[in-house]
Amino acid sequence: MYYAQIRKYDTANGPGIRSSLFVSGCTHGCKGCFNEKYKHFKYGHLWTSEIEDDFIKHLMNPNVYGVTILGGEPMDQVRDNDLLNLVKRIKTETNQNIWIYSGYTYEEIIAHPKTRAILSYCDVLVDGPFVENLKNLKLRFKGSSNQRIIDVQTSMKNGSVSLLEMD
Ligand code: SF4
Repeated sequence: MYYAQIRKYDTANGPGIRSSLFVSGCTHGCKGCFNEKYKHFKYGHLWTSEIEDDFIKHLMNPNVYGVTILGGEPMDQVRDNDLLNLVKRIKTETNQNIWIYSGYTYEEIIAHPKTRAILSYCDVLVDGPFVENLKNLKLRFKGSSNQRIIDVQTSMKNGSVSLLEMD
């Protein structure tokens, strides 16, 4: 896996002070894509075990409230197991809450074993493609009004989409 950037302290992509990882690579073709560069699977830096260890260590910092994974397209990270291993480690070693953004819908993600496995370690999914003519700058934590903020664990348990109640 390659990644475009890590923001150690991010307040834009989910509640509280979070650490964000922007993975590289995306097969969607959204009109008005917010960052075309991030669509290339080898853009940025190679994800290594040293970087992963540093990231996990940083998440132990009491000032960090959670992790957000976005891209690119996190659910296109199925060529290797790096992202799956990372979300597993975040949960088992730090127990931080994980938000993940995807241009795929919840239904598409759970239909495939590899993406379902990644999602199973996450707490919140912001799903669906960015649609330029549904763009609304007033929306919290999402770019266009078709996107949903989903409580992943409740949805998986109940077998139907449960939206997250936002304050
Ligand atoms: S999913 Fe994100 S990175 Fe991919 S094309 Fe759409 S806006 Fe760009």
